[in-house]
Amino acid sequence: MKVYFRECTHYESVPGLLKDLLNEYSHLFKPGDRILVKPNLLSPKAPSTAVTTHPYMIKVILEFLLDMGVKPLVGDSPAVGSIQKVARVSGVKDVCEKLSVPIVELDDPLEFDGIIYRKIRLSRKVVEVDGVVNVPKLKTHSQMILTLAVKNTFGCIPGKEKSAWHLRAGTSENFADLLIDVHLLVKPVLNVLDGVIGMEGNGPSNGQVKLFGLIAVSEDGFALDHAVVRSLGISEGLIYTVKRSLERDLVPPYILYGEWKGKISLPSTVSVVPLPRSIARLLRRVIRVPRIDRRRCVGCRICEERCPVSAIDIDTRKVDYERCIRCYVCHEVCPENAINLVRRVV
Ligand code: SF4
Ligand code: SF4
Repeated sequence: MKVYFRECTHYESVPGLLKDLLNEYSHLFKPGDRILVKPNLLSPKAPSTAVTTHPYMIKVILEFLLDMGVKPLVGDSPAVGSIQKVARVSGVKDVCEKLSVPIVELDDPLEFDGIIYRKIRLSRKVVEVDGVVNVPKLKTHSQMILTLAVKNTFGCIPGKEKSAWHLRAGTSENFADLLIDVHLLVKPVLNVLDGVIGMEGNGPSNGQVKLFGLIAVSEDGFALDHAVVRSLGISEGLIYTVKRSLERDLVPPYILYGEWKGKISLPSTVSVVPLPRSIARLLRRVIRVPRIDRRRCVGCRICEERCPVSAIDIDTRKVDYERCIRCYVCHEVCPENAINLVRRVV
């Protein structure tokens, strides 16, 4: 298996660099194929916020597919807002309109059994195409620590069904197993990571924008994620999806072509410093919980609707910490950055 890294510090350089890499994979596509391009279209945010896959990446991929005679479509199931709104604000709609490529909401689910989880409902539009090109964004994630190729295919589960999975999975490790099962079902033919400008800190929506300067491409999402995590100097055991994919023997041997090293500030929900056992034991009793910032909150109720355990009451702006399972979905979906992750002793 091959993983390609290319250093790329400006989106203006994407066409030259990415087209060369994509040409390596032209054998994967044939004229007339229907290929779904699956970016990270989490919520209606401008490209400068680094929440969504940059439209330049989508443009180059679509042009490559169209040149091959492929019939591409672009789709996702955003956590916040309709696909049309998210595509418009993120700049993806403009690209699609110019190239006459349809944008679709990943809805209308069909049920499948994964290896560990049963009854996983994926959008019909994902399974009825000839292949999926997965285009994740390099970002931190308050629950899963990083979001890369494997996490990005979770968007193939329609709408609010995604929140319910946090409750069903329970722990972050179990949730990683679900993400892996979904990724195995979606089985992208190609993964193209937008790591030019991404996010660090408390991502995936409300962290800090950061220039990473990376484009990474591989047919295998597990290999790609593993290579990126290593090049960021992060312990493999810290990233749940990478840890579980190694334990499940899903990371194939791969050769890395190209050099890139990066640094990233991880979310405040993770402790990366090795601590004496007594202090670590004490710290396990200190957890990060969501707290609503009353000055910022506009009462849109998105967090209340998306909380899988109904732990949020927006009338009082309070979170029921007895119910809260600390999935941080509320923090992820809040469009106003009005949810802080604060320490609490349990
Ligand atoms: S905390 Fe955020 S998502 Fe929740 S109601 Fe307030 S503004 Fe909306
Ligand atoms: S309050 Fe937030 S972190 Fe807690 S369960 Fe609900 S969505 Fe998850």
